[in-house]
Amino acid sequence: MKYITCEKPGEFSIKDKNKPLNSKGNAILKVNKVGICGTDLHAYAGNQAFFTYPRILGHELATTVIDIEENDKGIKIGDNVVVMPYLSCGNCVACRNGKTNCCTNIKVLGVHTDGGMQEHISVPIDVLIPAQKLTDDQMVVVEPLAIGAHAIRRSELQTGETVVVIGCGPIGVGIMKLAQIAGAKVIAIDVNQQRLDYAKEKIGIDYAVLGGRESVEKVSQITDGDMATVVFDATGHKAALESGSDYMSHGGRYVLVGLSKGELVFTHPAIHAKETTIMCSRNATLEDFEHVISILEKNLFPLDSFITHTVDYTEMIPNFDSWLNPSNGVIKATVNF
Ligand SMILES: [Zn+2]
Ligand SMILES: [Zn+2]
Repeated sequence: MKYITCEKPGEFSIKDKNKPLNSKGNAILKVNKVGICGTDLHAYAGNQAFFTYPRILGHELATTVIDIEENDKGIKIGDNVVVMPYLSCGNCVACRNGKTNCCTNIKVLGVHTDGGMQEHISVPIDVLIPAQKLTDDQMVVVEPLAIGAHAIRRSELQTGETVVVIGCGPIGVGIMKLAQIAGAKVIAIDVNQQRLDYAKEKIGIDYAVLGGRESVEKVSQITDGDMATVVFDATGHKAALESGSDYMSHGGRYVLVGLSKGELVFTHPAIHAKETTIMCSRNATLEDFEHVISILEKNLFPLDSFITHTVDYTEMIPNFDSWLNPSNGVIKATVNF
């Protein structure tokens, strides 16, 4: 069978190997479609920390079961399944407390272990979620949307709240739409006008504010001086992360979803005066995946606008470089296998 491997930064190749054999507790899946994520782009660009090569990338997967033993999830051969790509240990303090998303020994498919850019893959039955009613396009976006669903759940967002989401990439746009579906009024912020227009026109976000000096005043006007009770950062950029709480109301919550590499500096009196709750949000849990699957089943998410680029796997390598450049209008690229 064919697979695509990232040999080293900047170099992919298509290769052949034997199909995986099934083993106890695992299932063999046919990979139908793979979504390309920031992690994959960083791994290819060579700026993903602690990454080892060669590696088969891909953790956003639409799959169909081709071999599976009897299991208590009732998953059978021929079923569509979503893969939760975080392999957690089940024993550590986080796992014991139900926080498998931040397991101390977490291994992510396509990051720490080979992922889904291959025709067939063997994965533990434990990480499969039945998704019979979903199409390949729907299955492939469940993981990136689950990241947003987790961040929203962390924030304990209530209907009627006003939220600011900084960053109109795939994770940010996912948070925006899911927050709106949950009954919030959403203000999108980005430094790229093209992406803001996309969020407003294609995704239907309530307000779009260009990042920069006047953005705090704009958010103040929109909220009658209250500011947003919840702010999400989906950029991972140091400057954005350090100033995100400027958009936050007194008594608000600030959720860091994007990951930066170094130190963040906050002025203590500023965050203290607002009694700021700062929280990080990492990966997602089964509950978040199931929530997203139910939203997709009801067709509440504008999928056609979210998936912007699709190619067959034989065409992925020549197209990959162009997906690194946001000015090409890429939100979510997907690859058919
Ligand atoms: Zn992803
Ligand atoms: Zn664990």
